[in-house]
Amino acid sequence: MNNPALDKAVEALRPQLEQTLAAWIRIPSVKDAPQPGAPFGADVRRMLDRAIEDGRALLGNARDVDGYACDMEIGQGEDVIGILAHLDVVPAGDGWQVDPFGAQVVDGKMYGRGTSDDKGPAVAALYAMKAVQDAGIPLSKRVRLILGCDEESGMEDIAYYDKAIGLPAVGFSPDAEFPVINTEKGILQMRLHAPLTCDRLVSIQAGTRPNVVPGTATAVVRGEDTVQRAAAFAQQADIRLGSEPAEGGAFRLTVTGVPAHASTPWQGVNAAGQLLRVLQAAGVGGDCLSTLADAIGHDSDGTGLGIAGSDGVSGPLTVNLGLLSYDGQALQATLDCRYPVFFSDAQIVRFVKLRLSGAGFEVETGHGAQPHHVPASSAIVQTLLKVYGELSGREAKVIAIGGGTYARCMKQAVAFGPLFPGEEELAHQAGENVDLAQLVLSVRIFAYAIAELAGV
Ligand SMILES: [Zn+2]
Repeated sequence: MNNPALDKAVEALRPQLEQTLAAWIRIPSVKDAPQPGAPFGADVRRMLDRAIEDGRALLGNARDVDGYACDMEIGQGEDVIGILAHLDVVPAGDGWQVDPFGAQVVDGKMYGRGTSDDKGPAVAALYAMKAVQDAGIPLSKRVRLILGCDEESGMEDIAYYDKAIGLPAVGFSPDAEFPVINTEKGILQMRLHAPLTCDRLVSIQAGTRPNVVPGTATAVVRGEDTVQRAAAFAQQADIRLGSEPAEGGAFRLTVTGVPAHASTPWQGVNAAGQLLRVLQAAGVGGDCLSTLADAIGHDSDGTGLGIAGSDGVSGPLTVNLGLLSYDGQALQATLDCRYPVFFSDAQIVRFVKLRLSGAGFEVETGHGAQPHHVPASSAIVQTLLKVYGELSGREAKVIAIGGGTYARCMKQAVAFGPLFPGEEELAHQAGENVDLAQLVLSVRIFAYAIAELAGV
């Protein structure tokens, strides 16, 4: 795989690419109140206008999809290869040492919100298309870059685009990592609810969102002996437990764990699960709480719930106890389960009901998403792996994840870049940056991928 004309075209575009990215980073395209023609606010609209202008200047075309997205194409023919990226960013947040919308370059890295998620990859894809054009590579398919404006908040952009224009079936989305993510587990939220009265238990509170492993969990209990039993168990089980006096002669117990994302629960320590075990050992909450503690207090792989398992492509099922509460009348919990592509959500719910209904729990399903899988043997995956392996010199293999990426929106699309293995994930964090040399490597990889996928 060697195309000197394409390499030359990429190298020649490098200064202009950096200018374009800097200009995009300086527009703080955070979602805001809708305005006419600007469904995600004025700043996102300004970013969209700039992308359309650049698309027209570089590729000779760009289409505004009513403020929800834009698209631009190269090539000709019936078939369309889609490249999906986004122009909106999450708010800057605290902790920045440089201007988060300044596009400052230090030691070959450009800093700013959106440099890696996802303006850097979007600009890389745009210039890859320009390089293919400049190198005069004949194409027998069209390659369409779709830039959405609402990936971070609700994906209304893509729903609108699909209705108005129709999404291509095949493609890739540079909004995650290399080499190729072809498997995204299913997502299933379950809400558990059981009536409970216990005179030694006043309240429980843990978790902020189902998809986050709770880093702290608190319970208010009565009786000094309750606190003593809790403390003895916590010490023996190596659980970080604190206690302090609370209102009305009660005690507040606080368990400290380690927060993590629900798609990788093994990276954290679930404080809510540990609190359940502490309360169980202290003799609080009866059979109802004790059953829940056995079911979800010990593991994040579904063993206690009877739903553990894996398949040949996805890796293991995971389950996170994301929310836990008790208000004096009912014990409630919300589970976030990421299940292998060969599993069925209905079967998982059936097993969870079988496990918990004896203790009085009702199980309702909440937000979810079906698994997404593109076979490793498919042309799109094989082509992207080959290009990535040859140009990066690194191991080319498919990966499975528990999270959801933008690629899910298209039937046969995979996530492809922009993070290289070992690169620090700084999306949504302070200090987000992109290594400009790596970005140019991404441009080369995308350009060769386009030539392979759409070339004559
Ligand atoms: Zn993103």
